[in-house]
Amino acid sequence: MPEYLAGRKVCNLMQLDNKEWDDEILKDVCNDRDGNLKKKVPLLRRNEDDAWFWLLDDQGCFTVKSCYRALQGEIMAPHARFWRKVWNLKLPSKIVQFFWRVCSLCLPKAARLITKRVPIDMLCSWCRGDAETDMHVLFYCDIARNTWIEAGLRSVLQQVTGEDIFQVFYDLFQNCSSTQCTQIILICWSLWTRRNKWVWERVNMSSFGIKAAATNLLTEWRKAQAEKLCDVSHTRRPIVVSKWEKPQQNWVKINIDAALFEDIGYIGMGSIVRGTDVQFLLARSVRREGLVPPREVEALSLKEALSWLKDKDF
Ligand SMILES: [Zn+2]
Repeated sequence: MPEYLAGRKVCNLMQLDNKEWDDEILKDVCNDRDGNLKKKVPLLRRNEDDAWFWLLDDQGCFTVKSCYRALQGEIMAPHARFWRKVWNLKLPSKIVQFFWRVCSLCLPKAARLITKRVPIDMLCSWCRGDAETDMHVLFYCDIARNTWIEAGLRSVLQQVTGEDIFQVFYDLFQNCSSTQCTQIILICWSLWTRRNKWVWERVNMSSFGIKAAATNLLTEWRKAQAEKLCDVSHTRRPIVVSKWEKPQQNWVKINIDAALFEDIGYIGMGSIVRGTDVQFLLARSVRREGLVPPREVEALSLKEALSWLKDKDF
């Protein structure tokens, strides 16, 4: 920041006798981009003290939740398309959560438990041929390989290499349809279920049984969803019709509207006041330089109208 701007306030960028941005000053202290961005901020007539406002919350209040979500969004941004695809799959939520745990390396397989100092045998308890990693349980173990082949997904095995499980799914899902992604996640879920049944109950499942369990689960879930939908559609909902009503005795009613003129960089705000017998009392329309999202223009219009009415001593 240039030294001569130290201690200056935003209001120093406005005209002295008028609440408008001062083009000359903006040109002097800002580059074209910054100047144009500032000019898009509409200035209201009413004087109010500056205050802190947390942009990620409608009320302007800081919340850990909104901050966490913003950070999550930033962290996940590079893989946002991948995750959007996953969240949109028609699958039971417990299975989508399982898949998220797989990609986040949270599954409690032996290789991970050992890093947490759990005294456990690192080898796969089924084949005893290799360390029990995510990739081994879901792709490399012989029971996993047979299951993929049984499910007609040999091509998946041919594309899978390395030990980075997130990268494996990321690459796989790039070229897969939603149906294929659903099938892949279901097979993974069944393989993990089989692994747990074997480890904890010594129950053995064949590759055909694993594949059938995945298919049955999806069929049952879809059936339940369809029934739920049917129930909802048969539930009568009250029809809410919203219509304008005249104000009560000795009250006035104000209606507002707002418009955006993006091409010329202005917003328009209009208001009309009517009395008990719907008689016209006052109306006003103003325009301000600046551009803000439609929802904010509506809010600004309402705020301006209330300030205006207050000045009129209603
Ligand atoms: Zn194994």
